[in-house]
Amino acid sequence: MRFIGLLLAAAVAVWVYTDARKRGFKTLAAVGWMLGVFLLMIVFLPLYLFIRARKVKQIEVLTPCKYCGKYYEGTPLYCPNCGHKVGGYSFKEE
Ligand SMILES: [Zn+2]
Repeated sequence: MRFIGLLLAAAVAVWVYTDARKRGFKTLAAVGWMLGVFLLMIVFLPLYLFIRARKVKQIEVLTPCKYCGKYYEGTPLYCPNCGHKVGGYSFKEE
């Protein structure tokens, strides 16, 4: 039964990592959350869900890149991940 618990912890940890990355966490922060959830899920999982709920409100626009599928914030001219042109127009006059 220990093995199944470990497998479940690993699955949740991987979910936290991918979810954190999607939500714009830095790689290091996402890895930190992943390890925290894996080693001490009872503490880190509720904490992560709490921070995640707060972070959602802070992000105004989160768009998936149509070339690489990663999410970026705001309306940049180029995707910060793959460098493809994703913008070209701006909502603000500059
Ligand atoms: Zn991209």
